[in-house]
Amino acid sequence: MRCVACNYKDTKVIDSRLSQGGMGIRRRRQCLKCSFRFSTVEEAEILDLTVIKRDGRREAYMREKLEGGLRKALQKRPITAETFHELVNQVERDLQRRKKNEVTTREVGEIVMNRLKHVDTVAYIRFASVYRAFEDVKTFQEALEHLARTAGAKAPRAKPKAKNKKKR
Ligand SMILES: [Zn+2]
Repeated sequence: MRCVACNYKDTKVIDSRLSQGGMGIRRRRQCLKCSFRFSTVEEAEILDLTVIKRDGRREAYMREKLEGGLRKALQKRPITAETFHELVNQVERDLQRRKKNEVTTREVGEIVMNRLKHVDTVAYIRFASVYRAFEDVKTFQEALEHLARTAGAKAPRAKPKAKNKKKR
């Protein structure tokens, strides 16, 4: 990789470590000519996926949209930026595992809910009600009961952290 300071063609890696819950690698580099130091971050490949919307329209998969939906569901919930990243990565890995190039918004919703319910029940219910994805009244009832059980245990330390800030 070229030096960002002097544009010399070669830099050496002086340190590398995992970031974002193991889904990315941060590398410290140093220019072989001017010794300038800078860092690069490598992340898992962006998904090459077409999302089929409810009305049949197609659009390219965008991580920002997934993150937007999750942020809305997790608003004011006690969740760290790290957990948030991990959640996004898990959903993307699930999408990748399907080994198909197309996915419906409903399928994405199901994958998200499947992951979200292990992270935060309130967010899970918010997300599910937005996507109207509860199969039936019974499932919804179960979710609410689960919430009632877990809410009591988590209430005392319910001071929400500051909003997840974008890292870039
Ligand atoms: Zn340089």
